[in-house]
Amino acid sequence: MGAAAHTVKGRCLCGAVTFSADVAKLEIDACHCEMCRRWSAGPYIGLPHDGPVRFTGVDNIGRYKSSEWAERGFCKACGSSLFYHLLGTDHYSFSAGSLDDANGLDLVAQIFIDEKPDYYDFANETPKLTGAEVFAAFQAKSAREGGNG
Ligand SMILES: [Zn+2]
Ligand SMILES: [Zn+2]
Repeated sequence: MGAAAHTVKGRCLCGAVTFSADVAKLEIDACHCEMCRRWSAGPYIGLPHDGPVRFTGVDNIGRYKSSEWAERGFCKACGSSLFYHLLGTDHYSFSAGSLDDANGLDLVAQIFIDEKPDYYDFANETPKLTGAEVFAAFQAKSAREGGNG
């Protein structure tokens, strides 16, 4: 863990599920892909985190396996989208909308920009990656770390 970890806390709409984690950076990214938009009613804005997560109300957490490599966590009671999780890793992306303190976050990237619908545009100036660019970066990272994708 970095010395400058920030403790973030979040919860679902009804409060049945809460979480907290010590994240390295208060940086978020937005995913415009079709899956994220179906799941979260808009672009999924997430705070990436690698490491342990403290959950309460785990019996209320539903997990939907949305691909071969990832699942999406939600509250079974109120339906709130809570996190994206890479299976077999401790990598999470917490829903920015679930965070108790929504201020002080930096939007640093937008991904799957090629799937963004034309009814909105963020004014934030960030790098914008297509889906193909995201997968290429992910595969390069996995190769460096000796993973298998
Ligand atoms: Zn809930
Ligand atoms: Zn997405």
